[in-house]
Amino acid sequence: MAEAGQQDPRRGIPRTDVLLRNPVLVAAARRLGHAVVKAAVVAAQRRARDGEIAPDQVAAAAAADLDARERTPTTLRRVLNATGVVLHTNIGRAPLTPAARHALEQAAGYVDVELDLATGRRARRGRGTTEALLAAVPAAAAALVVNNGAAALVLATTALAAGRDVLVSRGEMVEIGDGFRLPDLIAGAGARLVEVGTTNRTSVRDYAGAIGPDTAAILKVHPSNFRIEGFTSAASIPELAELARTHHLPLVVDIGSGLLHPEPLLPEEPDATSVLAGGATVVTSSGDKLLGGPQAGLLLGDTDVVERLRRHPLARALRVDKLTLAALEATLRGGPTVVEAFLHADPDALRARCARIAEEVGGRVVPSNGAVGGGGAPGVTLGGWAVALPEGYAAHLRHADPAVLARVESGLTLVDLRCVPAGSDDELVAAIRAVTAAVDAAARDRA
Ligand SMILES: *Cc1c(COP(=O)(O)O)cnc(C)c1O
Repeated sequence: MAEAGQQDPRRGIPRTDVLLRNPVLVAAARRLGHAVVKAAVVAAQRRARDGEIAPDQVAAAAAADLDARERTPTTLRRVLNATGVVLHTNIGRAPLTPAARHALEQAAGYVDVELDLATGRRARRGRGTTEALLAAVPAAAAALVVNNGAAALVLATTALAAGRDVLVSRGEMVEIGDGFRLPDLIAGAGARLVEVGTTNRTSVRDYAGAIGPDTAAILKVHPSNFRIEGFTSAASIPELAELARTHHLPLVVDIGSGLLHPEPLLPEEPDATSVLAGGATVVTSSGDKLLGGPQAGLLLGDTDVVERLRRHPLARALRVDKLTLAALEATLRGGPTVVEAFLHADPDALRARCARIAEEVGGRVVPSNGAVGGGGAPGVTLGGWAVALPEGYAAHLRHADPAVLARVESGLTLVDLRCVPAGSDDELVAAIRAVTAAVDAAARDRA
């Protein structure tokens, strides 16, 4: 016992001031600041006092802790999306293109977001992004970018109809997710919603019959996250545009997903070009759904109306930062988006990748139906392939680094490769192998 006392681990623990002179920790302090390094040192000393590490490991433990902190500066964890669902709101919707990622890096410093470098005077904020939008959608005369799709809709209805009536079909009074309902959003903006038609059928005559002296706008919302089937009908954009024109009303269309042009794979998904060509005054949409960009809200359409929205005081509260403007512009000017690539992933290539992974980890290759997700194209399934593993794997895979989010279906964990970049297959294999090893070890412990 006396000997144990002599080996009191506390005795050899280096002092704080000595540790803070360690060259590795001095270098870390230059990058992370003194307080952070000191906290890591104190934590490592505590671990030594608790007998968790040896006294001579304190400096190394603090350095390892700081290194991990630098590698993951936030609590956000990288996720490999093995669900087969392209747009998943819980994991940040659209993954950005390489060009958009590069643009974010560049815009992180000072940039001429609101300055004309030629004259040295203030310039219109985000003009490069607006130009890119107009180049991508020539049917739009003007464009404005706000914080998200909901903000675009709120701005349009507030600026055009506060204190007055907005006509909307009963079949389009949708909840966009997490309890947020369009009617509440619009009512919160101070406009009165006037419901027309019925849940399953609304005709242009229903709108015409509801127009009164207080009507300020007609709104059409794409019911993007559900489908009503059977005996249904809705007024078309050209019909509504004609009615709106006759009554000198703006027609606002919320297309939701942000498709700029028709996508043959998703024939029921409206796109900005077609809706504007059909006569809409303003189209609103998200930037991070099928457009494949950062979170943003787009307003595209008539010059006078978009100018009115731009000058409305609310626009200032909903404005986007330089990072969003940069990533959106790069997405628009770049080539095909990551979202497009995942939507159009070649099933044969997916199957071949699945076969390789299954061979390495001992799973089975099974057909797997992916989806657009993110409140887009309900009912459309994307045929692909997955590696089937035991059901219990899904929870373990979420704890991998990067985390792997798989789908659980019919008592199996399905690792669907549609939305996993091919370059990440090795990470996926490593994560699955680690789970197998952990599961095997647990089984041995029980035996
Ligand atoms: C997704 C969606 C919204 C909300 O857009 P956010 O960018 O999530 O704010 C609004 N309307 C429709 C039709 C949508 O699909």
